[in-house]
Amino acid sequence: MMLKGMLTIIATISMLMASSCAEQKSISADTLFINGVIYTADSEQSVVSALAIKDDILVYAGDLDDAEQFIDVKTDIVDLKGKMIIPGLHDAHIHLAGIVETDTCDLASQSFTLEALVPRLKKCINRLQLPSGDWLTVEQWAFSGGNEPSVKLPTIRKALDAVSTKHPIVLLGNDGHHGAVNSHALKLAADRTGNVVGLNQETLNKEFATFKELVGVDSSGEPNGMINEDARKLVNVPNLWGYPDIDLALYQKIGQRLAASGITSTMEASLKEHDIDLFAKWAKQSPLTHRMTVAFFADFEDYRPCPDKPINIERLINEFTAIQRRHKNVENLKIDTAKIFVDGVTEGDPYANPPTLPNAASLTDYLQPQFKVDSNTQALEVIGYVDTESAACIELRHQADTNLPSISASDFYDAQGFSPLQCRKFNGVYEREESFIRDYTLALYDAGINVHSHAIGDRAVRLALDSFAEAKKQSPKSKAKVSMAHAQLVHPSDISRIADLDVYMAFTYSWIEPFIQYQMMVSPFIDPIMSESDLFDPSGYAYQNSYPAGSVLEAGGVLVAGSDAPVEARDPRPMLNIEKAVTRKNEISGRIYNKSEAISVRDILDAYTINGAAMLDQQDITGSLEVGKKADFVVLSQDLLKLEQQGESDRISETQILSTWFDGREIYAAPRD
Ligand SMILES: [Zn+2]
Repeated sequence: MMLKGMLTIIATISMLMASSCAEQKSISADTLFINGVIYTADSEQSVVSALAIKDDILVYAGDLDDAEQFIDVKTDIVDLKGKMIIPGLHDAHIHLAGIVETDTCDLASQSFTLEALVPRLKKCINRLQLPSGDWLTVEQWAFSGGNEPSVKLPTIRKALDAVSTKHPIVLLGNDGHHGAVNSHALKLAADRTGNVVGLNQETLNKEFATFKELVGVDSSGEPNGMINEDARKLVNVPNLWGYPDIDLALYQKIGQRLAASGITSTMEASLKEHDIDLFAKWAKQSPLTHRMTVAFFADFEDYRPCPDKPINIERLINEFTAIQRRHKNVENLKIDTAKIFVDGVTEGDPYANPPTLPNAASLTDYLQPQFKVDSNTQALEVIGYVDTESAACIELRHQADTNLPSISASDFYDAQGFSPLQCRKFNGVYEREESFIRDYTLALYDAGINVHSHAIGDRAVRLALDSFAEAKKQSPKSKAKVSMAHAQLVHPSDISRIADLDVYMAFTYSWIEPFIQYQMMVSPFIDPIMSESDLFDPSGYAYQNSYPAGSVLEAGGVLVAGSDAPVEARDPRPMLNIEKAVTRKNEISGRIYNKSEAISVRDILDAYTINGAAMLDQQDITGSLEVGKKADFVVLSQDLLKLEQQGESDRISETQILSTWFDGREIYAAPRD
């Protein structure tokens, strides 16, 4: 397909050259757009006013005067009247199966207090007529909004128990990492041999001790219902992502939502073999309307021959290449990337007592804040920090290290006023052992497979970069590309390495917006926060180093864009992402989160188009509006560059996608009002 595309381009270009030499027109465009603000995303970041297409190819991008040669009687002329055209958007990190609504129990990322959550979920059980013992799987739970406890429902576990004690219940966080379950589900936890032993204080200290950091507990040490990352597998949650099997109807709905969002190229950020096979199957029946790249993912633990042996990387790579071979002739589908999770997430749980720390890999130990929830307003407040270097904490750690009989948790609490667990020093965890993350990166890169790493904490970002550096040193001839998703915290000394190592950085720009409730789950564990305004103190580490898009750009790095939908929202919201990259501002509070990391409209458009195309190895055929490339583009209702000029960038998210063109065909047209 690629080769055929290239031949068409060459043919078109030579026709063009012939026409200019002979001074006679030989191309009559099918459609000519005039009077537009057409951002080309070429190397000059230029803007033109006319664009012509013939079949699936752009034959002209320039000013109106020279466009006339492409007109003949059959040419459709579209007067844009000042509207904007941009190249088709590239969403370089998206989870396609989750971007359309399903008929399940779906909280739609809305925030609820625990009291308000209970009746909603009860309704789900009734509506779905769930027999006793069946799982209630709840999708798109806003783990970072709402969930305020009450006197009656002090923990999420208590709240879910109030929903049902007859059904195991799991809330799937809308980020794919957090989870919450009721007591019924906790009882289902099985050990390695399959014995059902339950997840409780006792087993958490014995057979499940390695999952300790991923399970929230109350002051007595009992699980409080929060279970994150791999700990969700302990209770055998039936479908961790909550995504349904992809049938033809769902596959087509996904295509429609992308088209309606102006997205013509995607990287599906983590897809397992079964789902890759399904996408390939449907793509043969109903051609893709986006250039889809797949990042292969697998349950790595399934590749571990036995618990204390390393994961079998060779087997993983063989499997990858087999899948790649199996689907190599599916039009617009390519499987050339593999996904690695370096770490998890950086939100802690301030409502738990003791607070659950973030699990993302951090360069420094997390702080141990003490929170208070206002019983009237439910507002969260930091009332102090545990000094982990206090005599009491040092003594406690000494007792633990030397297996001396230690003071009981409740006696310690009574004496010190905080849980002994808050004496812990913890700097997060990697998703797998460090050697696997490195070795898998090296092996993939050496095999010419692109590597896409999920890294959240600054220590995870560093490990990803170290692994990329090592891979490039070891296999200098490899043409594989490396990219990183999220990079929520980047240590300043790593910024220049991102550029030097040619890492494509996929930020989700809409996450930058400063929400107080969200920030309270992150910042107090990183910086001493004593008041709300401390969250936005320019000298804070989190404030300075969160999503450092501007710094990466300034250092010569390449930005791309990934919505990570359905995380936070099923809708990939490209216009919101573009706006937040430019403003980093919350409309309601008017606060801006580190203006120095904001980027220009042109730069975020490049991230969403030509840079994404470069990351996905298709910059020769798409990503910019230049003659000879595929006609993939989007017509917008307003001119984003003008909004920027007028200081109205916070209106970018109001922009409507009027039409989307893919391969020279209009695949979406907004309903006319
Ligand atoms: Zn993701």
